[in-house]
Amino acid sequence: MSDLNEYKCPACGAPIHYDITKESMTCHFCNSTFDLEYIKSHIIIPVDEKLSDFDWVERSRYVWEPYEPDGLEEFTCPSCGGTIVTKAFYATAKCPFCRNYVIISSDLDGDIRPDKVIPFKVPSNVFLEKYTEYISEFKNVPREFRSKDVQKKIVGCFIPVWRYSCTYRPEEQFDISVNHYPILANDADICEEVFYSLLPFEYSDSEDFSESYIAGFSASRYIIGAENAMKSTDSVLQAIYNEESGVKAISNKTEAEKPLDTGRKMDRLLKVGLNKYIQNRKLSYYLVPVWLLDITYNGEKFTYAMNGQTGKMRVDNVPKKSKAAVWTWLIYPLLQALLIACAYLAVKRMGMGVIILILVLAFFISVFNYYFTKSMRKKLSEKRVYFKSGRFEEQKVWSINDFMIRH
Ligand SMILES: [Zn+2]
Ligand SMILES: [Zn+2]
Repeated sequence: MSDLNEYKCPACGAPIHYDITKESMTCHFCNSTFDLEYIKSHIIIPVDEKLSDFDWVERSRYVWEPYEPDGLEEFTCPSCGGTIVTKAFYATAKCPFCRNYVIISSDLDGDIRPDKVIPFKVPSNVFLEKYTEYISEFKNVPREFRSKDVQKKIVGCFIPVWRYSCTYRPEEQFDISVNHYPILANDADICEEVFYSLLPFEYSDSEDFSESYIAGFSASRYIIGAENAMKSTDSVLQAIYNEESGVKAISNKTEAEKPLDTGRKMDRLLKVGLNKYIQNRKLSYYLVPVWLLDITYNGEKFTYAMNGQTGKMRVDNVPKKSKAAVWTWLIYPLLQALLIACAYLAVKRMGMGVIILILVLAFFISVFNYYFTKSMRKKLSEKRVYFKSGRFEEQKVWSINDFMIRH
């Protein structure tokens, strides 16, 4: 069973949210501001704390691993009594009736409580400004991308991330380590490519996790569990190690052993007991802030995002307004108007006798026009043109290599 929490204003009872610029909790209804310490000490929300010696590495096998990430959950809004339906992995939900965010505490409590949270530092209007500046470089941008239309689509999200450190040391002379490698723990809302272009985050500015930082934002819990996150990273490390040292050794072996294709060679190497050689594992669980804007145009998704702590932007290209739209809105009505005008003139000159003939003719021309337009539209919309984003062309997507140390 899930518990819902909503932080209420001590002055007026309306919901309060984390205010980025004031770094405190604010009531949008009566404008009161409360600092976080006051909220933590006065609004007592029962928290099922983790044990003080809790260790993700040791407990990874026993803590919650997702079983049904696509399931839905249903809640009753504490403010208005409306029904909120949300995906099972969301740790907050927006009530569709009163538009308030509620926090689903059972996704953030006990063993699966995040260790740390990086609060939002850059407000959404900065994201909107940067986005508008970027979009204004181009002409003939579809309406869906104009800043007035996108404003309401911008979502402040807390993304769950594992931070993992370990050393892979199969031999004495050479080892490789990862240091605080961030592993995206839920790729349902943000794809890996987008997330890894927003790095780095300043982890030194993180806070001990408290629900007050995420009040008023969208947040989700991990769907990639601790054990899976570590395991997949371990095998990547092993593969890199083998490629850099082990495979070289194999290629020196006799010809009889050689005819293994690279894939099979890798498979064989990966079967070597991995856990034995992994040392100094450290794992922590963070929520990090991201501003996210998804726009769907002609069935294609475009994503614009900003690191909510540092303000670093990540953009997609922008599609050019499709010619199909021009065809539909300009040329097609023009053809129709021409047709009507011709029919009118014909009726005027030749009298009522031929009206029926004209009408029949007009009907067939309309049908032809309809199918011709349809095929034209299809042809034109297949030819998509995008604006190239000069300023962001060389956006770096961070990878495990950026967190690796070789000894
Ligand atoms: Zn208030
Ligand atoms: Zn509600």
